[in-house]
Amino acid sequence: MNVLFVNPPNSGRSIPEERYGITSLKQIFRGEPLALEALAAGLDGHVSRILDLKAEAGEPLRVLSDALAESRSDVVGITGVTCEANVMLAMAREVKRVSKATVVCGGMHASLDPEHFNRPEVDYVIQGLGKASLRELVGALERAEDGTGITGVARTSPGKPLALTPRKFSSRDLMEEQPPRYDLVAGYRDQYVLSSLGLKVGFVASAYGCTHACGFCAIRAQAGGRYLTHSIPAVLRDMRLLGDIPVVRLIDANTFGDPKHAAELAQAIIDAGLGKRIIADVRSDTVVRHPELMALWRKAGLLAVIIGFEDLSDEGLARLGKRNTWRNNVEAVSILHGLGIRIVGDFIASPDYSEADFEHLGKTIADLHIDLPMVSVLTPLPGTPLYNELRERIVIHDLDYYTLTNAVLPTRLTEKTFYETYAGLIKSGHAGAKL
Ligand code: SF4
Repeated sequence: MNVLFVNPPNSGRSIPEERYGITSLKQIFRGEPLALEALAAGLDGHVSRILDLKAEAGEPLRVLSDALAESRSDVVGITGVTCEANVMLAMAREVKRVSKATVVCGGMHASLDPEHFNRPEVDYVIQGLGKASLRELVGALERAEDGTGITGVARTSPGKPLALTPRKFSSRDLMEEQPPRYDLVAGYRDQYVLSSLGLKVGFVASAYGCTHACGFCAIRAQAGGRYLTHSIPAVLRDMRLLGDIPVVRLIDANTFGDPKHAAELAQAIIDAGLGKRIIADVRSDTVVRHPELMALWRKAGLLAVIIGFEDLSDEGLARLGKRNTWRNNVEAVSILHGLGIRIVGDFIASPDYSEADFEHLGKTIADLHIDLPMVSVLTPLPGTPLYNELRERIVIHDLDYYTLTNAVLPTRLTEKTFYETYAGLIKSGHAGAKL
């Protein structure tokens, strides 16, 4: 079978830009589509191609139809996050308009809210970690079967609820025997750059999913609340495959979820002498409980960590379901800075914020010397517990605006003041950014 994987173009919309001419809050995603490279890896025996519309020049639908004409695809797989969900459907319609290919939608939003894709232009929806599910589906389609009975996969049924049997994910679903098909994005590689350092960055997965249940987070849907780790040889193999690319971004939502495994991985990276600069995600309570693990990873090349600090108080963290404390956040910053590890700090600004709240957040970021602060606006993504809690208050339902930089809930400040103050905070936070 010929399979074309499509990474949609940057498509999120920006209220501050459209209504107030504030261009600095527009969300731009960069980086290689590792999930598609991994899915393609699971399809040995078939012919795969990746079309990265975030890296392609030209009008996206035109580029897509040209690629379809060229590749004569039997199956088109489209991925995307929530703010790309509408564009994914537009892509699916284009596929149906110009070809007879079977359209399969997966990725973050399909995992959170598979019903969104229960439309005539989509044939199948895959929920969660999709490597094994997709392999089974493509095999079934090749045998002219309809894929009934494959867990984690639903044949669409517009007008009727999807019949989707959730998959019980296990390490078998990682299918790590085959490395990601980095070769399929070789033509785009020069564009996968960490702009702040001006260095090429490659993505590697060392773990998948998360056992925590933060109310705003989409990760839990990926593996049904399980945490799966890749074997150490597989991670080393993938890091080596990136060749002379100097920076490795471990794209796991929580690289250190199994501290023993993480320590063994760090030691293996040290022993292998890979000489990469590494960026990874960690929870602050893990840093506080395991400072020796962070020290070991520093030796392994850990340049920076991304930490979800989220809120500035224990009450706020509890409201978000974060199961962590502000004290841990402060202590983690001290430990990491002591080790020379830079910090990308994620914070969530509530639409209820007053100017004083923004000021307090800005001062806290400055006092903690967060190297690169990332401030998002609290956004209830469909399919998350936060969405169920706040759905009645949502005033913007168009998913194009679910970029995490728009307020889809009512703001306490006037909307214009909210975005001006938010943009001011981002500007001052990024003025001395060191990553
Ligand atoms: S925010 Fe982090 S710790 Fe919480 S569920 Fe998501 S990945 Fe897990």
